[in-house]
Amino acid sequence: MNINNKPCPCHSDKKYKKCCRPFHTSAKVAATPVELLQSRYSAYALGVAEYIMDTTHPMNEDAKKPRQQRESELELFAKGTSFDALEVLDKGDYEASEQVAPDAEKEAWVRFKVTLEQKGHDASFSEKSRFIKEDGRWRYALAEELVDSEDADKSTSEIQTN
Ligand SMILES: [Zn+2]
Repeated sequence: MNINNKPCPCHSDKKYKKCCRPFHTSAKVAATPVELLQSRYSAYALGVAEYIMDTTHPMNEDAKKPRQQRESELELFAKGTSFDALEVLDKGDYEASEQVAPDAEKEAWVRFKVTLEQKGHDASFSEKSRFIKEDGRWRYALAEELVDSEDADKSTSEIQTN
């Protein structure tokens, strides 16, 4: 199956070959944390395990798993999940005093929501992620806050009743 001319799974309305493919083939390096987030999202959708692993910072728990295990987990996830939306809600930079990686050139955060479906169930969540730039490359470090869609609905109704 040739996906190059199909719409990019990151929902950019561009063709895959003109959008996230150059990142996945290492022809281009993501210039911003948002670009990295989008290209990782489409890599999750397509099961490009190599790109997910290469753009995960060593401090992440997943980076400690054997590569083979991680690869099969990512392939299973891609196969069993429908990737319906990616929304960037907010973003910002960390001050030098808030940085966690000693070799970081820069650290930044992005808050986003992904709409996912697994076997007919809503698997959407919102996350505030930390990204770290080292040697000119942004990588995903960790989830600072994670809210699944059910909890998000709960907190909304709590606000309304108050
Ligand atoms: Zn894309």
